[in-house]
Amino acid sequence: MPSGSLDYLKEQLAELEAQGLAQHPRTLEGEQRARTRFDGREVINLASNNYLGLAAHPRLKEAAARAAAEFGAGSGAVRTIAGTMTLHRELERRFAEFKGAEAALMFQSGFTSNAGTVAAILGREDVIVSDELNHASIIDGARLSRAEIKVFPHKDAEAADRLLAETAVPGRRQLLITDGVFSMDGDIAPVPDLLVVAERRGAIFMIDDAHASGVLGPGGKGTVAHFGLDPRRVDVQVGTLSKAIGVVGGFIAGPPHLIAWLVNRGRPFLFSTSAPPAVTAACIAALDVIAEEPERIARLWDNTELFKKGLHDLGFDTGASETPITPVIVGEEQAAQDLSRLLFEEGVFTPPVVFPTVPKGRARVRTIVTADHTRADLEEALEAFRRAGERLGIL
Ligand SMILES: *Cc1c(COP(=O)(O)O)cnc(C)c1O
Repeated sequence: MPSGSLDYLKEQLAELEAQGLAQHPRTLEGEQRARTRFDGREVINLASNNYLGLAAHPRLKEAAARAAAEFGAGSGAVRTIAGTMTLHRELERRFAEFKGAEAALMFQSGFTSNAGTVAAILGREDVIVSDELNHASIIDGARLSRAEIKVFPHKDAEAADRLLAETAVPGRRQLLITDGVFSMDGDIAPVPDLLVVAERRGAIFMIDDAHASGVLGPGGKGTVAHFGLDPRRVDVQVGTLSKAIGVVGGFIAGPPHLIAWLVNRGRPFLFSTSAPPAVTAACIAALDVIAEEPERIARLWDNTELFKKGLHDLGFDTGASETPITPVIVGEEQAAQDLSRLLFEEGVFTPPVVFPTVPKGRARVRTIVTADHTRADLEEALEAFRRAGERLGIL
């Protein structure tokens, strides 16, 4: 018999089920594509972050296979001991260039990039001023740093300015931090305003561009490029390799002393094994494809416009989205679960997003279009949305 009882988890799970808040991930049975098979059913896939269709791109697959053949399956160590490979160095050079930064450092994920960096650059005496909708990995990093955390209302640069002014004490460091694109609403942070605020108050400015890298701005270079700002004005840029780049991992771009500090104090970098050769080489190939096939980004935005307009014309509430992420907000948790289930039966996969990921009463299904969707895919999906919306009385 085990010594402790985990029986209380059964009760808590039953409660989640009763409230429609329990997670039941569907299983992907093929490649991550615009049309693919989940749980035994062919569906139009509006659920992935595979914005540019790179997850199953032949050049990435080839690069991964070649790197595995040449450098092996695993890296064998953490970066600071024996796990820094030539491929990691090359990818970091390429990402610094991509982001217009002086240097870059690869992490195992976007999550560890954020959490590891925030915790490494701030301490107990410092303060973090953070948008209320920032990603969980920023929140966790802020807690790990033990700095004081001040949350400002979504996208409210004036409120951020007030919080920085109120918490300013000589010698105390301040970090102003925001997602570039917000993952559940698909809206874009007011980066130019926040940057001015950070500069006025002498605060460190950090942007998490997980949903913007490869998506937003000329060449998919992200939020900073989207607003035409000089990337060297931003202290820390975070990116993920797991979304538009199509593989897995994360990176930090910034000045060389930031990167050198993270090599010494970024705990995921120091204490968790580095990315395998196949992953790293596939990410390098992704940067090549993004540069050489700019039509992918163009198609992504054409699809975004078509699908968003279609949902809007049908009468759905799509919130404040301005990117390929379009939420369809229905309110109650159960309504979101029902809409998602009904759409799946109609051959369209859109996951429900419920509390605590979004506030109570703002439950939704979240759609993400990709460059791989055809016009016919999106028209068929819209038709399914119309039927499901009518059947559930949402329209
Ligand atoms: C997805 C996401 C992350 C985490 O990236 P992973 O590479 O999947 O760990 C971080 N920040 C934001 C805003 C995200 O949407």
